[in-house]
Amino acid sequence: MIDPFGRKITYLRVSVTDRCDLRCVYCMAEDMSFLPKRDLLTLEELERLCAAFIRLGTTKLRITGGEPLVRRDVMRLFGALGSRIGQGLEELTVTTNGTQLARHAEALAASGVKRINVSLDTLDPARFTRMTRWGRIEQTLDGIFAAKAAGLAVKINAVAMKGVNEDEFDAMLAWCGEHGFDLCLIETMPMGDISGDRTDQYLPLSIVRARLRKTWTLQDTDYRTGGPARYFDVAETGRRIGFITPMTHNFCESCNRVRLTCTGTLYMCLGQEDSADFRTLLRAGATDAALEAAIQEAIARKPKGHDFIIDRRHDKPAVPRHMSVTGG
Ligand code: SAM
Ligand code: SF4
Repeated sequence: MIDPFGRKITYLRVSVTDRCDLRCVYCMAEDMSFLPKRDLLTLEELERLCAAFIRLGTTKLRITGGEPLVRRDVMRLFGALGSRIGQGLEELTVTTNGTQLARHAEALAASGVKRINVSLDTLDPARFTRMTRWGRIEQTLDGIFAAKAAGLAVKINAVAMKGVNEDEFDAMLAWCGEHGFDLCLIETMPMGDISGDRTDQYLPLSIVRARLRKTWTLQDTDYRTGGPARYFDVAETGRRIGFITPMTHNFCESCNRVRLTCTGTLYMCLGQEDSADFRTLLRAGATDAALEAAIQEAIARKPKGHDFIIDRRHDKPAVPRHMSVTGG
């Protein structure tokens, strides 16, 4: 699949639920209303659609959400997709908040998952509870160490928030080094109404990087994971640190991905509204050939890039849907 700008589309991110057991302040409002179950694609529908993408050249799948591991029977989907590794699919991964990992780490590894991303924005228990509105850090830490014990490579994702966790990145880099994890910092993106002011939260990672350089030797590297992060080797720990900077740096020119929501809507760009509806097609009994044709038609509409700007006057998000809907 090649889009109109010559980019090869090989990566599909799949949100399997809009629900979550946490309410991170940058991601969701406290009183979120979630979709009725009938609106979600069934696990079988998700698998069928992923299979069509794999036939068309998708080599990497990431399962996300909401919190993917709270979806009932989701390990069945991992099992089914994992069996396609080596038959077109090269990599199956997951992004999770880690709360359910202690239960699922072994099964994830058994299904062929090798690397996972776990979101952890702070190492301070009280701050963790504030940032997630009610989470307990022990649960996520237990999950992270269960994943490590199961042989999964762990990357920690942390959203950088001004005045919230910006004093912790040195400690987090050291902690990740100690346990053999890479760390990836993410700038907040203006997605979805979160009942708070986003301009207050935004912290440019260029500032964070300059501060980290006072303590750590960050060496340029060509390392890429097929994503928008720019990575550096941390000489002191032997691990890497990545920076995802959608607000300060436009990463669209190398974009290789599209995103499927849990309701079967395909977004060709995280920051744009245009989409394609696959649920209607699936439920109308579309053949595999019709599904593939619809996927190709959607890829042909992939836009050049996003245009994230915070509307300061109205304090409206640039994109009305939440990250948990599109799948972060
Ligand atoms: N629940 C899982 C988790 O937290 O890892 C997967 C879904 S979550 C939406 C995926 C990633 O998006 C997380 O790393 C989260 O921190 C990030 N995220 C959510 N809202 C964001 C926002 N407004 N700006 C930047 N990153 C965001
Ligand atoms: Fe849930 Fe992940 Fe959003 Fe936090 S970032 S509220 S864990 S979906």
